[in-house]
Amino acid sequence: MRVLYVASEAVPFAKTGGLADVVGALPKFVRRLGNDAIVLIPRYRGVKSRRVILPSLTIPLGSSLKFCSIHEGSPVDEVRFFLVEYPDFYDRDELYRHAGRDYPDNAERFALLSLAALEFAKRAPLPPDVIHCSDWQTALVPVYLKTLYRGDAFFENTKTLLTIHNLAYQGVFPRSTMARLGLPAELFNMEQLEFYGNINLLKAGIVFANKLSTVSERYSQEIRTPEFGCGLEGVLQKRAADLTGILNGVDYTQWNPEQDPWLVSNYSVKDLQGKQQCKMELLNQFGIDNSLDRPLIGIISRMADQKGFDLLQAVAGTMVEDGFSMVVLGTGDERYTRFFLALQERYPAYVAAKIGYDEWLAHKIEGGADLLLMPSRFEPCGLNQIYSLKYGTVPLVRATGGLDDTIQDYSDSSTGTGFKFDGYSPEALLGTARRALEVYRMPARWLELVRNGMQRDFSWSRSAQRYVELYQSLA
Ligand code: ADP
Repeated sequence: MRVLYVASEAVPFAKTGGLADVVGALPKFVRRLGNDAIVLIPRYRGVKSRRVILPSLTIPLGSSLKFCSIHEGSPVDEVRFFLVEYPDFYDRDELYRHAGRDYPDNAERFALLSLAALEFAKRAPLPPDVIHCSDWQTALVPVYLKTLYRGDAFFENTKTLLTIHNLAYQGVFPRSTMARLGLPAELFNMEQLEFYGNINLLKAGIVFANKLSTVSERYSQEIRTPEFGCGLEGVLQKRAADLTGILNGVDYTQWNPEQDPWLVSNYSVKDLQGKQQCKMELLNQFGIDNSLDRPLIGIISRMADQKGFDLLQAVAGTMVEDGFSMVVLGTGDERYTRFFLALQERYPAYVAAKIGYDEWLAHKIEGGADLLLMPSRFEPCGLNQIYSLKYGTVPLVRATGGLDDTIQDYSDSSTGTGFKFDGYSPEALLGTARRALEVYRMPARWLELVRNGMQRDFSWSRSAQRYVELYQSLA
């Protein structure tokens, strides 16, 4: 199979969240299964080009012509990464927004990426069997294929898969944007692009893609309900037969305490001594109380409503007084960053918060914390809880989406790997934290829990196999 991945971010070139981890890793594993896999992303500011592949690629976008070029970045494990260069759109401080506001031309920026993907594909000797798109930014690929490129014999046998990494981000723009994106006006109807008077690019992709997937089984069911469907539950119900849930995998070459270069001491399930050293280092680095009898909660997260920190706001003080310490790393909504900074000020001996994006510190927290907290309101897959399992850092999560699929509650059986709560309430979070505290104070039990998690395997191999089966079913 020849698969072209088109996405708005990919590790190691550009990342704001889990999407980049997936697009950076999945192609490598799909390739190992004997397929051809290449990736196309924008060339954002700072993304290094190794060479120019196509110096000039003219893209008609609405009534204007955009003159792009295609570069190639350094391959990652033999997967080739191509970059769309169009400085007016991509050479900016951040990927999607600046100073808390989305870039006003995001629709054009990512429509260009989608069209560039098709024009780039056409320069190859053979068409891709599957174009694998992700989220609203590339959801127009299936739409363009079935409209502007309808009669194009080159793409006669090309199919599309759209993966929804997070339904909460849909790419909603005014109706007037359609002409600028070159979208035929007749698509503006409720069955296709219209969404309450605007156009919705994710909806467009859901309607036009040959198949759909999302990043956990549980989330694939949740998004068909009004509670999680963000207004798209109806259209997803219609396409239920074509919607699959495939759990994200983890690239254990990046996330493995046995060889993580950022840890002060490496460790493994057989020898956990290094984990204590990682905890001490983390506590010392932040100057918080280093008595080891206080379980240390780690948080590494975007600070968004989705992540459930409003629950923590109500009970964090009680948790600290109960005996927890916390190290927090994140950026996002001021409402939450302010809360964490205030908590740090109130409990300087037990709470440390760093507002920012810091890959290095994320690894240190995975290594040094005892628990990782993800009380999400919804969570399509979630990666940090999966990394945590490998690092012997016990996840405390809300039972939703991928969190529910990947974590088994300690009380369920002797194979439990973490702590889960169902109801979205501060009381449920506090009750579960207290349950965790009790177990933490029984070292033999805690060790069993840690070891159970470390032995779970969420490597990409299995998920990549499922994607390949999906591609084959399309072709
Ligand atoms: P989402 O995609 O909703 O942000 P995921 O759990 O799927 O959540 O993926 C988040 C990814 O981003 C993880 O790899 C996590 O380590 C990383 N991450 C999130 N916030 C930060 C941060 N402030 N610093 C470093 N890494 C972060």
